[in-house]
Amino acid sequence: MATNRTKVPRPLARQLFVEAGHRCAISTCRATPLEIAHIVPWHRVRKHEFHNMIVLCPNCHTRFDRGDIDRQAMLRYKDLLRLSDPNRVAPDDPSPRAGLLRAYRLFQSDMTTWHTSIAELVLAVTLSSYGFPTGNLESCRTAASLARAATDKLSDLGDEGVTEAANYVFDWSLKWAHDVFDLEESAFNRTREEAGAWAREKLMAFAMLHEEICAALDLGPRELDFFETERSGQNLPDVPLGTRGLWDADAEA
Ligand SMILES: [Zn+2]
Repeated sequence: MATNRTKVPRPLARQLFVEAGHRCAISTCRATPLEIAHIVPWHRVRKHEFHNMIVLCPNCHTRFDRGDIDRQAMLRYKDLLRLSDPNRVAPDDPSPRAGLLRAYRLFQSDMTTWHTSIAELVLAVTLSSYGFPTGNLESCRTAASLARAATDKLSDLGDEGVTEAANYVFDWSLKWAHDVFDLEESAFNRTREEAGAWAREKLMAFAMLHEEICAALDLGPRELDFFETERSGQNLPDVPLGTRGLWDADAEA
């Protein structure tokens, strides 16, 4: 079968081994030693590409070559390897789940930018003794329209649950923005308890969406980071990052 096959470059081989944790990629097998297999056979593609390659033990490799394990199944095993770290999504990954995850992260980021601009407006109003600080309005409006677009995008890609939860976050944020624009007393003067309850409400809105996203991706809520742990050049959201405890508490209750 190996006709003038070029050697698999070492960095690529290493990537493949690491992807499968140096074990046979069939999750119920996990045997060693390992061989590298092409999912669409080498003689048809004649190139080594990460997305078309997988590491298998000799037994599973033989069964794959014989057709005991078919190509669709093997693609699914490859898929499952990718799922083992759901937080890593290549920017050019064309799969629907990667699209949904990217839209979700964009939503979180744009929503956070909007929230920051509203919070800045609150501060500007509080500090200004010369009427409404109209200078802050524009950035607030721009951020709002970006957040609206991100909500629509997420709704397009997500199921009903995702759509509902994303719009809930949006509507909640819009109400807050309106309260600030309308100079509602409640948006400026809050007791400690009110501020705490308000922050919890905001967190729960994001958490609800997170659960819907995870359900759509067939993941437990703690398998996907609540927020990305880093995003270069952007401020992280002012909700606690270590919110895994949120779901732990749920489980214990
Ligand atoms: Zn195996």
